[in-house]
Amino acid sequence: MDSFRDLVVGVESFVPLKDGSFIKYINFDNAATTPPFKNVMWFINYFSEYYSSIHRGEGYKSRVSTEIYESAREDIINFIGGSKEDTVIFVKNTTEAINKLSFKICSQYPNCVVLTTEMEHHSNLLPWRFRFHIDTVRTDSCGRIDLENLEKKLKSYYGMVKLVAITYASNVTGYINPVHEIAALCHKYGAKIFVDCAQIIAHKKISMKNEDERKNLDFIAFSAHKMYAPFGIGVLVGDKNSLSSGIPDIKGGGTVKVVTDDFVVWDDLPHKEEGGTPNVMGVAALISAINTLNYIGLDKVEEYEKRLLKYASEALKDVKDIRFYCDGIEDKVAIIPFNIEGVNHNDVARILSEEYGIGVRNGCFCAQPYVHKLLNLNRSDIKNIIRDSDITKRPGLVRLSFALYNTFEEIDRLKFALEEIVKKYSSI
Ligand code: PMP
Repeated sequence: MDSFRDLVVGVESFVPLKDGSFIKYINFDNAATTPPFKNVMWFINYFSEYYSSIHRGEGYKSRVSTEIYESAREDIINFIGGSKEDTVIFVKNTTEAINKLSFKICSQYPNCVVLTTEMEHHSNLLPWRFRFHIDTVRTDSCGRIDLENLEKKLKSYYGMVKLVAITYASNVTGYINPVHEIAALCHKYGAKIFVDCAQIIAHKKISMKNEDERKNLDFIAFSAHKMYAPFGIGVLVGDKNSLSSGIPDIKGGGTVKVVTDDFVVWDDLPHKEEGGTPNVMGVAALISAINTLNYIGLDKVEEYEKRLLKYASEALKDVKDIRFYCDGIEDKVAIIPFNIEGVNHNDVARILSEEYGIGVRNGCFCAQPYVHKLLNLNRSDIKNIIRDSDITKRPGLVRLSFALYNTFEEIDRLKFALEEIVKKYSSI
């Protein structure tokens, strides 16, 4: 199977190097954002003739736009294997979805315990930290979730844990959590589960429902910009009953049935939770991306990206002085974190860009507790990090993250570039 290169915008772009020459760009930073599909951009262009503000407009364009916006909810439920009991709330991105969910859970269970894990992105850590008593499930030395530690915590807080918030796939190591097994464990102890799907959604078919209903996922969230659609739109999906109580976090136009001087009757879900003029174009683009992923088949995407991952892992082993993290884990999305002994991660990323036209990300990827643990840093190391004003000298990793349009030849070019970097810079 060839890569799905023809479907994606910008994969043949040339970019300038430091010496003034131009080279074909390689993007290995897809965990941050993927480029859009060509037909998503085509659809945005086409729909721009018809779009209009939705819901209360009786004009033709308002009705067409409302239809596209509202019917998208069912397409999303089908795409993520949700059920009729679930509602789809459109938000800006995963971060906003998690903040919204934390507001909802807090209004229902203000004194409860929320469990997160050491592996989380800050977006699935900080929204919980300031509203709840939180505790953190440990990872092992390789970065995997410690399920025994999870069960121990569920037992010791018996009945007080109302939610476990965990990522489906790590944005640092790519490691995939056994979320349905974890769901069964949460439900056994009376907790619900929220799964951050930002890193899985474009790489593997997911299903909130499971044939064993104890393993169902209660809430999920993801962002369109990590699945070949533009920025500014994401979703929170979850059980209507849990999301319907309380007042909305964002109050304003579109959220009410009645307002008088002294009382408010809130609208039903999902409108109550979508304050302000909705991002109709974003939703249309997201659905176009979902249709394209359905057309390609996520099983094929997963299989192709696994081959890229295997090829890269094996090829890069030959690079002298490379150090991998979480080596040997089978069940992961196509992400490789690494360092080169003797060359700062920031320099590796900069040189790859300036001298070889290869885009990667470096640092802690908004997952500092996890990266610090992978790097074996202790508290005093972390205090020193805070003191050091030069952020480029802070500890971190280089991250490669592949997507369906990357190729084996691109990985060969990366290997060549890393070998050159080791030769030129690692002894300085
Ligand atoms: N969770 C994970 C695992 C992520 O990788 C990211 C983005 N890097 C987020 C949450 C936040 O996504 P967004 O910035 O689109 O809100």
